[in-house]
Amino acid sequence: MTEPQPDSESESAGDPTSAAAAGAATQTASPASPRSGADRSKEDVVLEAHDLVKAFGALVATDHASFQVERGTITGLIGPNGAGKSTLFNLVSGFYEPDSGHVEVNGTDVTDLEPYEIADHGLIRTFQTPRKLEGMTVREAMLVGPQRQPGESFVKLFTAPDEVREHEARNLADVERILGEFEIDHLATQPATKISGGQMKLVELARAMLAEPDILLLDEPAAGVNPTLRKKLAEQIRRLHDQGTTFLLIEHDMEFVMSLADPVIVLDRGSVLMEGTPDEVQTDDRVIDAYLGG
Ligand code: ADP
Ligand code: MG
Repeated sequence: MTEPQPDSESESAGDPTSAAAAGAATQTASPASPRSGADRSKEDVVLEAHDLVKAFGALVATDHASFQVERGTITGLIGPNGAGKSTLFNLVSGFYEPDSGHVEVNGTDVTDLEPYEIADHGLIRTFQTPRKLEGMTVREAMLVGPQRQPGESFVKLFTAPDEVREHEARNLADVERILGEFEIDHLATQPATKISGGQMKLVELARAMLAEPDILLLDEPAAGVNPTLRKKLAEQIRRLHDQGTTFLLIEHDMEFVMSLADPVIVLDRGSVLMEGTPDEVQTDDRVIDAYLGG
């Protein structure tokens, strides 16, 4: 089921770490074992999608999809191309409005909220195609990251300038700290458009962490990333998970997702086909059929 991965990133050229080493490292996972749905209490669930439906004209992209993400897990979300994975991310993060169904984050119904309000409730997502950051350095791009604070800073600039200055100083300190934690401080002054796609994925992850999310949704973080940086990404996801962040991870690279995630939810034609451990999912006939069919 492993798809061939594009590996044209320029940063691989000067790095001696072998692809084999990167591959081996991504296999030594110790995912937390999830509890079954029956003994999960409300506090254990950080994200719940309930019977979501979303159609684009005649095309039903999300077809009565329901799932839960248990706090403290790295939950995988896989499925063939066009299964509706990204649409589901857009629905639960407020970028699309569902035709029916509802979404809860930390026990609050967020179905009708805007993305920044859902972020306030603790859910942050990255995009499959990172946004363009023309004319900004990496540090500047980090500073316009998806922080949790409301967008009233312009007014505050006049009414409470000291507060704004303090706030900005704190943001800058957070950015410096996170750049260091992600070992990308050397990229801080680089133009954001000049770094490689793989480095951009790390910057996106670092940026998302500035908002201190309870749950972080990553849409294909490893796509187009060379093995060295893919290993770094996996290490960072594990580190953040160990520090308490819950993840919902869409990923096409089976080795990457299966080494990190437990449980894994399989989506097919807009509906949840099954949920299970990586082993259960990889050996399930329905899953194999869905991928061959796709
Ligand atoms: P995945 O991420 O699993 O590859 P998507 O969620 O991107 O799948 O897409 C699911 C289906 O919905 C696809 O058939 C896609 O073409 C369609 N789709 C997604 N977004 C839109 C949109 N904004 N308008 C029309 N069709 C869309
Ligand atoms: Mg997608």
